[in-house]
Amino acid sequence: MTKATKRVACPLCEAMLEVNDSGVYCKKREIEERGTSFINVGDCDFHISFKSQAFKKQLSRADIKKLIKGKTITDTEGNKMSLDLSQDNGFYTYIEFAKKVK
Ligand SMILES: [Zn+2]
Repeated sequence: MTKATKRVACPLCEAMLEVNDSGVYCKKREIEERGTSFINVGDCDFHISFKSQAFKKQLSRADIKKLIKGKTITDTEGNKMSLDLSQDNGFYTYIEFAKKVK
């Protein structure tokens, strides 16, 4: 296995993280379709998407790995994204927006 594909453990439950087209998610996350919505029926909900509307940089797998290790990712506008396991805003990431310079 190369360094780039080395598996990273979930910061919540330490299960291995998996990757799909939309992002990185915990192996224990199981999404089921219920009517018009999708709910997680798994033991863990940890996931980070590659794309975010608020953050002006598409994350790579390496970026997500950095977030999990406690590092900060900065986008083109100077906004800073970091890991937030409290999930206060419904995501596992927190964005500190750069002050707009007029
Ligand atoms: Zn997990």
